[in-house]
Amino acid sequence: MNLELLIATKNVGKIKEFKQLLADLPITLRSADEFENVIEPAETGHTFADNAILKARYYAEKTGFVALADDSGLMVEALGGAPGLFSARYAGADATNDQKIVKLLNALGQTPDSARVAGFVCSMAVADKNGKILHLAEGLCRGKIAWRAEGNHGFGYDPIFIPEGFSESFGQLSDEIKSKISHRALAVNKIIEFFRVFITP
Ligand code: IMP
Repeated sequence: MNLELLIATKNVGKIKEFKQLLADLPITLRSADEFENVIEPAETGHTFADNAILKARYYAEKTGFVALADDSGLMVEALGGAPGLFSARYAGADATNDQKIVKLLNALGQTPDSARVAGFVCSMAVADKNGKILHLAEGLCRGKIAWRAEGNHGFGYDPIFIPEGFSESFGQLSDEIKSKISHRALAVNKIIEFFRVFITP
């Protein structure tokens, strides 16, 4: 079966990562940014999984492709789990990544190293064109929040997130390392087996 899979996001950073993570699968990848007339849906869910399901269904129904969506975010323990579900909009709908980072570092203030514990969470959903959910997966990448932004790899909060076992931020680490240990990589690894079976004639 020659599957055309829609990556259900217009976030350029995520699309780049998904294309790298799914590169070994014999499928054709499309992405939501090819569909200018399809506007992004409101993320009204109460959990990451709710929003991943909502986005996968929405883009699959709008485009007619099987769609893979993720909903992800950064949870900081000392901030009660914030920005969490609101990671994309933490500093307002139109804020830049730099503004979000500044807001988060200010919120943490002088919080000591030992209490800067954080985790990137990712829920992933696959839906068919009728809105049926075919698969769900989750990934968690533990780490801590740095004292200042470093590096320009990745996107979003990457310059201030230091994954467990490393001393540099995702902004400084190579794309290759992020693609092995990130929340998105862990969720994709769980879902990839599903796709292998799904496309087998
Ligand atoms: P959403 O999943 O489209 O709601 O957006 C999640 C937001 O969380 C992104 O806009 C980023 O700000 C942040 N985020 C999610 N995954 C990552 C990542 O891998 N690196 C950095 N920031 C991320």
